[in-house]
Amino acid sequence: RKVTGEQVRKALNGDINPFTKQRHTPQYRKILEARKKLPVYAQMDEFLKIFSENQVIVVVGETGSGKTTQIPQFVVYSDLPHTKGKLVACTQPRRVAAMSVAKRVADEMDIQLGRHVGYSIRFEDMTEPGTTFLKYMTDGMLLREAMKDPSLERYSTIILDEAHERTVATDVLMGLLKGVAKRRSDLKIIVMSATLDALKFQNYFSLRSGVSTPLFKVPGRTYPVEVIYTQEPEPDYVEAAIRTVLMIHRAEEEGDVLVFLTGEKEIEDACRKIRLDAEDLINQDSESVGPLVCIPLYSSLPPQQQQRIFDAPPAARSTGGPRGRKVVVSTNIAETSLTIDRIVYVVDPGFSKQKGYIPRIRAESLLVSRISKASAQQRAGRAGRTRPGKCFRLYTEKDFMSEMEEQTCPEILASNLTITVLELVKLGIKDLVRFDYVDAPAPEALTRAIELLYYLGALDNGNLTALGATMAEFPIDPQLSKLLIVSPEFKCSNEMLTITAMMSVPNVWFRPYDQKQQADAAKALLTLPDGDHLTLLNVYNQYKRNIHDKNWTWTHFLSHRALQQAGNVRAQLQRTMERFNIDLLSLSDEKELYTNIRQTLVCGFFMQVAHKGEKGNYLTVKDNQIVVLHPSCGLKPQPKWVLFNEFVLTTGPFIRTVSEVKPEWLLEYAGGYFDISTFPKGETKRALQRIINKKASKSSARVDSGKDDRKAKK
Ligand code: ADP
Ligand code: MG
Repeated sequence: RKVTGEQVRKALNGDINPFTKQRHTPQYRKILEARKKLPVYAQMDEFLKIFSENQVIVVVGETGSGKTTQIPQFVVYSDLPHTKGKLVACTQPRRVAAMSVAKRVADEMDIQLGRHVGYSIRFEDMTEPGTTFLKYMTDGMLLREAMKDPSLERYSTIILDEAHERTVATDVLMGLLKGVAKRRSDLKIIVMSATLDALKFQNYFSLRSGVSTPLFKVPGRTYPVEVIYTQEPEPDYVEAAIRTVLMIHRAEEEGDVLVFLTGEKEIEDACRKIRLDAEDLINQDSESVGPLVCIPLYSSLPPQQQQRIFDAPPAARSTGGPRGRKVVVSTNIAETSLTIDRIVYVVDPGFSKQKGYIPRIRAESLLVSRISKASAQQRAGRAGRTRPGKCFRLYTEKDFMSEMEEQTCPEILASNLTITVLELVKLGIKDLVRFDYVDAPAPEALTRAIELLYYLGALDNGNLTALGATMAEFPIDPQLSKLLIVSPEFKCSNEMLTITAMMSVPNVWFRPYDQKQQADAAKALLTLPDGDHLTLLNVYNQYKRNIHDKNWTWTHFLSHRALQQAGNVRAQLQRTMERFNIDLLSLSDEKELYTNIRQTLVCGFFMQVAHKGEKGNYLTVKDNQIVVLHPSCGLKPQPKWVLFNEFVLTTGPFIRTVSEVKPEWLLEYAGGYFDISTFPKGETKRALQRIINKKASKSSARVDSGKDDRKAKK
């Protein structure tokens, strides 16, 4: 029995909420009227038809046309997952989007968030088993569920949203779901995308050769956007963006502004300058310049503050006075994931932070780079949602034509694949090279990942070991899960749990631009000299000790939210440890404890060790890359051997989160990797050789003295 659009509309317009059996609230009616205006809503009948007649469909439509909020609801009405004990999943590449959209849809359906509609992101599950039938989740979470249940039996329909973002998890899910769809004829799959590279997904999903996956196209109801380029390249895009915002505020008609910048610090600084300059402008000419609010948007912002982007612009100061304007300064989140209504002006400097990975030296980068033409087109599109708009591109037309790539590079081509490879092996995929990727990663990236997993003991002859299977149960990097698993042997699992949790949350330190010295002094008070890992432990313990002092985090320039999150992560990792009977141990002797913690670190991060050479600079072992301690590093003085968490190429080849280690530990706890015969000639090899020689002469000396003892006894 097919559900028709007429039936769905009748249910939506009814007095009683079919899911809660309660009377609809006035808010519901109000939102429903807004929903009816979305382009997707007008297409409901066509959608229900194509959905009921096909197993896999691709949906494309302009950002803001209602795909993410409406399509999953249509699917629920058609599929009725709750009547068969199943769920509908809708994946999002970004945590923020999963949370924000779930909240919106819960409001739209007149349901409390976390009941029939919920979300699931790493370290946070907002669903009710048995009740939730529509779940927004990050793509990474669905991939983890697939590891436990490769056929994803719980789901009747899976919607992969924002597929154009091409995250590693979404790409891998596409490969998996293609296989699952062949096994499970009852599973439906929808791939949703904002840009017009739909053909790629259609071709990819054509299950039988020659039969193309149907495309459901939501006609965009957008207004023309006038694109304005700069005549000359801008030397400083942040300054140019600020200047453009103020120019718009002074000279352009009413309408809100969306500015794209690249990261938290840049955005906060720009917001501050825009506010100050706008105030000046108003003071000079309050007759014709209206009030302005400037709102930042980036992923580490607390959810209540993220919600502010949906606020109305400020009212005019007096009746008939100049109108107010809202300016949102955002990262790429606002490009396609979140839609802000009433944007008329877009300021696009043409940059975003993009991931990179160099497998040869295992270095990751997050560099401010030029966006693609497809991205630029998306950004411009944000200006034409409610009426004709303008997009100010802070680059020349020539640069647009000749310097920008057509499409953004899929993440799988620019990522460290260690965790992905572990997940794929856990999923039973033996031939990693011939997996059905949408775009296949570089063979070297796969080889490097396999090599690391092999040295960690997770793989053996291409098979998952028992250790590897346990590692895969933790939703964290395999190097980190290895630390948790071996830490009881070093009697420091309690502490390792804390350190791992602290490494899994955003930076806990604040460093406001006008209080850098105070912030650095506060940090110095909590810093331990032997390494940043111990400092992280110390910060968390002090935070717990002062938990009742509301001002403690504030006065120490620490983020309360990040520390709270570390507490949640810790609790969740602890549950996984308990499930695998990994004991939680501690040592009372602090000195011994701190040594053991650093020894444990070697068991996971042995590939990330650097040695101070004769010229005084650090070289990574085996790869011999020159690296520099990141300015945030608290080590004093600079030791000969260090272990690091991250090798990031930003303004230089920095290593971050660093601790001192002893070369003997490398040989003892990571002998497989520190097999001296596999080392390239160089300073590091010579240094290691000296340690080995010293050890050998020491132990032969001990043997000799033993002989003497025996002699003496005789
Ligand atoms: P798409 O996925 O096609 O980009 P969405 O379904 O995300 O579109 O958004 C459709 C519309 O829903 C938006 O234009 C906006 O009007 C509204 N909307 C979405 N989220 C919110 C929210 N959190 N608050 C208010 N309105 C929202
Ligand atoms: Mg969307």
